[in-house]
Amino acid sequence: MDMQGILEEIVDAVAPLRGQGSVASYIPSLGGVSPESFGMSVAMADGPVYGAGDWRTPFSIQSISKVFSLALVMSYDYDSIWARVFREPSGTPFNSLLQLEADHGIPRNPFINAGAIVVTDRLLTLTGDAAGSIRGLLRRESGNPAIDVDSAVAASEAEHGHRNSAMAHLLASYGNLENPVERVLANYFDQCALELTCEDLATASRFLSRHGVSSGGTPFLTPHQSKRVNAVMLTCGTYDAAGEFAYRVGLPGKSGVGGGIVAIVPGRCAITVWGPALGPSGNSVAGIAALDEFTTRTGWSIF
Ligand code: GLU
Repeated sequence: MDMQGILEEIVDAVAPLRGQGSVASYIPSLGGVSPESFGMSVAMADGPVYGAGDWRTPFSIQSISKVFSLALVMSYDYDSIWARVFREPSGTPFNSLLQLEADHGIPRNPFINAGAIVVTDRLLTLTGDAAGSIRGLLRRESGNPAIDVDSAVAASEAEHGHRNSAMAHLLASYGNLENPVERVLANYFDQCALELTCEDLATASRFLSRHGVSSGGTPFLTPHQSKRVNAVMLTCGTYDAAGEFAYRVGLPGKSGVGGGIVAIVPGRCAITVWGPALGPSGNSVAGIAALDEFTTRTGWSIF
């Protein structure tokens, strides 16, 4: 299969969709990104990496960081996080306080904000530096030691983070945080503000296409855990549109409000797309179209 040719064709095919939708502006420092940007990269499970468009431009990974925090916690703690967070699609906005209250402080899944805050809290207990350990994992898996937090984005999130802060306090009121709210939030904002290119993110996610085996060839997750992370991505990874994403793309995927999406073809590759203009569900419009094209052209949907 001519993977490089396929990616170039897909980037051309989705060009009319670039800029359709709107760039997330509730975090003000994300609002300055060009909506017309678009990049795509594929990291094959056995090594080669391909890319097209703006695949080497760094962007804010936002909620995609939640995949790596979950993977790290599972690698240290096996399955114990599931006593503190459910793993069901939420059917409500990713930052819903109502649902957290109705569920008595147990978030519906680890990829909505409340669930991710619980996972970050656990990672903070386990490592003493949750955002730093996620950055370390991303650097190690991608081979790029320059990966870092965009501190302007982190500061912008903290300044406008009233809802996340309310959620963290609600979690604490239910006894579902182990660390002080302020420390947990600082780590959460930093992990969301990590900046990576499509290339970095595809290579860093590759262990999920390799049944948990890291870039260096050693096991990071067990095959069982890798399967579980992919399953939660499939059911809960794209906000309220996980059904639509499964229908169109047919892969486990995780999106972020920075416009990135990571998708996994188990046994074959990890894919990253980035287009900052988001549709009503909060997912990149051009990004979903590109992944739809990808599984159509390759036949690599899991279904
Ligand atoms: N840092 C963002 C927030 O907490 C992440 C949202 C996202 O990408 O879904 O609002």
